[in-house]
Amino acid sequence: MTMPHNIYIHVPFCISKCKYCAFFSSAISPDWESYKNGICSEIDFWANKLGYIKVPTIFFGGGTPSLMPTDIFQSIMQKLQTCFDLSECLEITLESNPGTITNEKLSEFIACGVTRLSVGVQSFDDTELKFLGRKHDAQTAVALLEYAQSTGIRVSADFIYGLPNHNVKNIISLCNKINELNLKHASLYELTIEPNTPFGHMNLDMPTNDEMADMYMAISDNLKLPRYEVSNYAITGQECRHNQNIWDGDAYIGLGNGAMGRVFMNNTWFEQSGGNIKTSELNSTTRATERIITGLRTVRGVSFDDDIKNIVDIDFINSHNDLVKIENNRIHATDDGMLILDELVLDLIK
Ligand code: SF4
Repeated sequence: MTMPHNIYIHVPFCISKCKYCAFFSSAISPDWESYKNGICSEIDFWANKLGYIKVPTIFFGGGTPSLMPTDIFQSIMQKLQTCFDLSECLEITLESNPGTITNEKLSEFIACGVTRLSVGVQSFDDTELKFLGRKHDAQTAVALLEYAQSTGIRVSADFIYGLPNHNVKNIISLCNKINELNLKHASLYELTIEPNTPFGHMNLDMPTNDEMADMYMAISDNLKLPRYEVSNYAITGQECRHNQNIWDGDAYIGLGNGAMGRVFMNNTWFEQSGGNIKTSELNSTTRATERIITGLRTVRGVSFDDDIKNIVDIDFINSHNDLVKIENNRIHATDDGMLILDELVLDLIK
């Protein structure tokens, strides 16, 4: 039997396309039955390949998974239950968007196993929400967060900052609102302009890199939740276990069109994609490089094991302790290093 694998299930459907979105998703009304059949046959495929493996976490991401009818969700969960060992499954996350899930529907998802809800709030300002192309308003988002918190499941909210004209003041007010709501987990992403999106064609007057850096620092200064990854903040114990496992370099299967995974079989790592399942072998250098790239994004860093030792430049680490450090046999970026992670990784790898 092979090692435990986390499971990511992609739900690539949304009610409309946001103006900044470059994710694999489309605004169509899906045939849920055929979506479910596709996911279930991928589950069969991997159960045949990997056996009755343990699954530590399951993450339904999107897209907008909260659009999924709960009977479809239940069938997928039952299939997972039949094919894999979920007895030690710590977390089942559902991504959601306000306006696509009623309180009653959320309760049904919880009854089917959801233990964590991630809500795409993005902003508490209705004008900003409109600008981003979101279909909900702030009041609907707050009502969903409050109801979800009242059910006792773990709740997270996603936000976007660094919009045109945003400054540190906007960040302080966003952080104050997150603090007020007593959220225990929040993800704050910098707006990045992707080509082939409406924003990509709009020549927006974006904040400068220095202004973005000031806003990034203002988050740590004003949010009550400590940072545990470049864009993720949580009180201790409330971190997203699924993402942490993946950033740590654990194995995961991606199911559905648009999903990616890293599976371990026959003593070899494979890059894997969902939908029309494809796999390609990863050598130990590539795998270690991936672990550095994801692990350095986290405050706790990545285990300094032999594979990592083989690819990093020790002299660089010793002469740049202001950016990167080895402590307790883990290598991690300092606060200053986090600000220039892309360059840091390039310098760090031999
Ligand atoms: S809800 Fe998310 S995945 Fe869907 S269009 Fe908007 S940003 Fe993209």
